[in-house]
Amino acid sequence: MGHVFGRSSAQLPRAVRGEGCYIHDAEGRAYLDGSGGAAVSCLGHSDPDVRAAIHAQLDQLAFAHTGFFTSEAAESLADLLIEHAPEGIDRVYLLSGGSESVEAAIKLARQYFLETGQPQRHRVIARRQSYHGNTLGALAAGGNAWRREKYAPLLVETSHIAPCYEYRLREEGESAEAYGLRAADELEAEIQRLGAESVMAFIAEPVVGATAGAVPAVEGYFKRIREICDRHGVLLILDEVMCGMGRTGTLFACEQDGISPDIVTIAKGLGAGYMPIGAMLCTAAIYDAIAQGSGAFQHGHTYHGHPLAAAAGRAVLTAILGRNLLPQVRARGDYLQTTLTETLGQHPHVGDIRGRGLFRGIELVADRDSKSPFDPALKINAKVKRFAMDEGLICYPAGGTLDGKHGDHVLLAPPFIISEDQVGELVGKLSRAIDRAIAA
Ligand code: PLP
Repeated sequence: MGHVFGRSSAQLPRAVRGEGCYIHDAEGRAYLDGSGGAAVSCLGHSDPDVRAAIHAQLDQLAFAHTGFFTSEAAESLADLLIEHAPEGIDRVYLLSGGSESVEAAIKLARQYFLETGQPQRHRVIARRQSYHGNTLGALAAGGNAWRREKYAPLLVETSHIAPCYEYRLREEGESAEAYGLRAADELEAEIQRLGAESVMAFIAEPVVGATAGAVPAVEGYFKRIREICDRHGVLLILDEVMCGMGRTGTLFACEQDGISPDIVTIAKGLGAGYMPIGAMLCTAAIYDAIAQGSGAFQHGHTYHGHPLAAAAGRAVLTAILGRNLLPQVRARGDYLQTTLTETLGQHPHVGDIRGRGLFRGIELVADRDSKSPFDPALKINAKVKRFAMDEGLICYPAGGTLDGKHGDHVLLAPPFIISEDQVGELVGKLSRAIDRAIAA
């Protein structure tokens, strides 16, 4: 590791080459990328079109500061995104990653209300079991206890309501529809408790990723959320940093929930690992209020709108659309769900297998009937990660699924180009890693 200040002090293999669905290390071992890192590598590694687009952009223009210039790469990426964005979304602000995009979304919401004469609106409501990034504003919005804990005194106060988490929170005998409405109505109760005039935005991941393991909302939940936001003049921010860009089988995950947000963030799949890029997209109403008000969104980063990143993002999006990958994500995603269910569906320590498209989660439990979690001291998720690497599989296990402290899940988000054989390889390796982790 030398002087690299990494995520942990543990010795990690050194990655030297990526090709298709595999990463190779310096020792010559190949790892099947079953999680795209963290839902990043949607096109797999070493895609020739994206590499060519980056090279071509580098030969022309690497950087021009956005305080002075726009660029063809940024403009054409924004146009392409808007052409395929949820209804009403009309403007794109390019950034360098997910946390930056969420920070920008929160600040844009605040400035919108300042410009429209509602300066008292400043509160954000979010959900427990959510992750919106590691910078302080995004971390404050997130509801994951262990990520927040050490930095609690630095975090702006945020309200957190329950997520829509059918496996855990739907009551015995309650229909999915009734549960979805009950869960959504928590938002209305919280808005009323805080006083609607003080609430600025509600932020949520349409399919919860890192903190819960690919948990989609039940049908009807987000429609009710949309109605509640509209009724109280609260902006709806959807964080699609992980679940967007085709990961769930539609370009934007919210398409499947039948709603459009006021602001939406994307990142991981947009750069697909080739360049750091994120984006915040908003409606014309928000943009116009600022354009016709003070004239400028008071924000910015040195590297936002970077031409190389924009060229990579445009090539990735062109590949997703042009190669017709969305139907493939849906078909391979169904195949992955079926294979997981056949292999692990009756496993005594697998409580739930869920998700959409090539975004799947497996919740591990100590006991299937009571759904009781493993003792966190057993560090089941860390063991699954270690044994999976030993089997030659990259997956994304995490803990704190249930309440930020208890509960283990494994998140899967393989490249959209994964074959059926590779799905079989993934599930076989994962199943062995789970068994080894539990036996250890
Ligand atoms: N939002 C969501 C939903 C995420 O999953 C993540 C990262 O996992 C982020 C925001 C933060 O993105 P980044 O790590 O690029 O800052």
